[in-house]
Amino acid sequence: MHNYKGDFPIFKKTSHGKPLVYLDSSNTTQKPQCVIDTVSQFYREENANIHRGIYELSERATISFETVRQKTQALLNAKYPHEIIFTSGTTAAINLVAQSYGELLSAGDEIIISTMEHHSNIVPWQLLRDQKGIQLRIIPISDNGEMDLIEYEKCFSPRTKLVSIAHASNVLGTINPIREMISIAHANKALVLIDGAQACSHLSVNVQALDCDFYVFSAHKAYGPTGVGILYGKTEWLEKMPPYQGGGAMIEQVTFDKTTYAPLPAKFEAGTSNIANVVGFGAALDYLQTIGMETIHQHETVLLHDATKQLLTIPGLKIIGTASSKIGVISFVIEGIHPHDAGTILDRQGIAVRVGHHCAMPLMQRFNVPATMRVSFGIYNTMSDIDSLITGIHATLNFMCQ
Ligand code: PLP
Repeated sequence: MHNYKGDFPIFKKTSHGKPLVYLDSSNTTQKPQCVIDTVSQFYREENANIHRGIYELSERATISFETVRQKTQALLNAKYPHEIIFTSGTTAAINLVAQSYGELLSAGDEIIISTMEHHSNIVPWQLLRDQKGIQLRIIPISDNGEMDLIEYEKCFSPRTKLVSIAHASNVLGTINPIREMISIAHANKALVLIDGAQACSHLSVNVQALDCDFYVFSAHKAYGPTGVGILYGKTEWLEKMPPYQGGGAMIEQVTFDKTTYAPLPAKFEAGTSNIANVVGFGAALDYLQTIGMETIHQHETVLLHDATKQLLTIPGLKIIGTASSKIGVISFVIEGIHPHDAGTILDRQGIAVRVGHHCAMPLMQRFNVPATMRVSFGIYNTMSDIDSLITGIHATLNFMCQ
């Protein structure tokens, strides 16, 4: 197994004096040197605002920024670059669709989400429900953490307008059968938004082949900087949707009586964008492309299987989320041990795992647990990280059972 840690300067650091074992990539990924260098180089050599300067520096900054739009278009295989809207994250992208597409809905219309959604794919729709009187329908999931497709079909009614579901679950790791779910939604004349926050750095995504109407993800979960999100939307919908925020950059003509709006994508990019970090995200996309999504998926699958096997040897440990198709995410509970206590003791050994409800409280309720521990892999993880985790859990159990 190739060791990619050398590409990530953070691994030269220690945590509590121990080598850092970072197992929280679903939360945010570490950044390769090329991304850090690109952001810093932008500020050193190219910094200017975009789309509005006639001087050379601004033109160069604009080209660097727009090149990343094209690279993102290529990553997702979107038809046009203007179908890529830069936001501040997945959360912002979902809120944009909820508020803007939501303007086209009326009281009594219905939106379908699932039990395994992150709060970012629940609360924006609840806000819309409270503003507009729309109804939410929730797809149940099975005990192993898979979408119940029979119940899914029953969620549709003539009033269903949109389905909004995760490509992969941040808690269970489940890779959802989104292609099939999209075609069921379209057969019911509903649009589909895919929350790809947990998929984009693990799986190849082809929005045209999937035929989804919206696809959203965050750069920081794909080796890029924080504060950058991507909203892909089909031209047809983005054109029909009203602007979400008003301000500079999104207008064509402003008078005190009336404002007309810029064409896509500017219509949805009010104000100064997170320019340097978008440019940095371009370096992350190059990095992903150099390794190849297939290699990344294989690397993480080996880690997933090895870690699952080893974790299951620990007495009292139960994995929550045992779907047949998973990304490198494993949530678990250990009988008699509170996840927060275990997480704190692991941290003392230099091992970073996430504990808590993972912004998915309804999912915790579904599995009747207050919290879980979660390990999630990135390209830089190795078999030796898993060995450290297992040794660390044994040490934690010994400490707590003394
Ligand atoms: N959706 C899923 C499935 C997630 O895992 C996350 C973050 O963990 C989000 C949405 C929110 O992403 P962000 O905080 O980058 O907006």
